[in-house]
Amino acid sequence: MYDCLIVGGGFAGLQAAIQLGRYRYSVLVVDKGYGRSTLCGSYRNIIGWPQGVSGQELRRLGRMQAESYGVHFRQDEVVAAARHEEGFELALRSSGGSLRGRTLLIATGISDRYPSLPGLEDKLGYSVFVCPDCDGYETVGKRTAVLGSGVPGARMALTLRHWCDDLVYINHERHAVGSDELERLHREGIDYIEMEIVQILEGTDQGPNKEEKGAPQGDEERPAPAPFGGVLLKDGRRIQADRGFIAFGGNEVHSEWARKLGIERMENRHIVTDPRTKMTHVPGVWAAGDIGVHAEQSVIAMGEGAQAAIWMHKELSKQSR
Ligand SMILES: Cc1cc2nc3c(=O)[nH]c(=O)nc-3n(C[C@H](O)[C@H](O)[C@H](O)COP(=O)(O)OP(=O)(O)OC[C@H]3O[C@@H](n4cnc5c(N)ncnc54)[C@H](O)[C@@H]3O)c2cc1C
Repeated sequence: MYDCLIVGGGFAGLQAAIQLGRYRYSVLVVDKGYGRSTLCGSYRNIIGWPQGVSGQELRRLGRMQAESYGVHFRQDEVVAAARHEEGFELALRSSGGSLRGRTLLIATGISDRYPSLPGLEDKLGYSVFVCPDCDGYETVGKRTAVLGSGVPGARMALTLRHWCDDLVYINHERHAVGSDELERLHREGIDYIEMEIVQILEGTDQGPNKEEKGAPQGDEERPAPAPFGGVLLKDGRRIQADRGFIAFGGNEVHSEWARKLGIERMENRHIVTDPRTKMTHVPGVWAAGDIGVHAEQSVIAMGEGAQAAIWMHKELSKQSR
């Protein structure tokens, strides 16, 4: 029986693990091995990493740090969770076994929906982005193509207008865009194309949008992918661009496995927590990171992981008194 079970070893789970390890609890992190933080090639808005750092490198460092405090890790998928008399029990997919803990942190994040187009995924975080608050800055002075679907794509293009004045929105799935959005796109000078994308093109504009160029820190050995150069459309048109943003909507929220615990979820399946403690409505269960409501940024995930850990400690201390 562990003091703390953490499901999800991304930024929220790792930061919580470090904090809980330093309280000297027995902690186990169960993680599938990939998530938003393994996809992003370069985070450039995190304090201390002016040239950017890849998610994989940050996770490697975070895991090493957590392990130095005795935190255990297991690669597996949690498929279900239930209460038992002393805490919680998790069912695992590959081993078929189960794990028990006195407290539980849900840090399983979300997955972005995007089409499987060769050359798209490896550019994520380098020259193709998903989060305007994180990477809108990277579009300053660059021709930028929003690759998306319906209203989410239109809204992304309008949001990016804050940084970028050379934008095209390609509505790949041709889902309807309302007349209000179309009118706003037109008014903001954003080109609009309804056409399927068949290929991602490679370009030449490699560097991040700042003076320091080069590989993300700690990743000097890993070759950067060829930069985004635009797209080839089904009707044969080539749309040139230096930056891409994806916005297809319908992202997957990884909270289904925890549903039976009785946690409260929004309609979009994000988990509701107390803003002060990050505890869910079920005593003994916390949630942190992208799985929560509107917190889809790396440093916010880390902050929430630490916040949840502090309150898990308060609860565990109460129990042992
Ligand atoms: C392409 C891209 C670029 C981004 N760029 C930036 C940026 O520049 N700046 C920024 O601040 N943020 C950025 N973000 C957002 C940032 O990556 C996320 O906010 C952050 O990763 C959230 O951390 P998390 O721990 O909540 O989730 P994740 O990092 O997604 O980790 C969740 C983990 O849970 C695991 N998991 C899920 N379900 C299960 C299960 N049932 N059992 C076991 N394990 C499970 C997954 O395998 C995953 O490892 C970007 C995201 C993407 C996709």
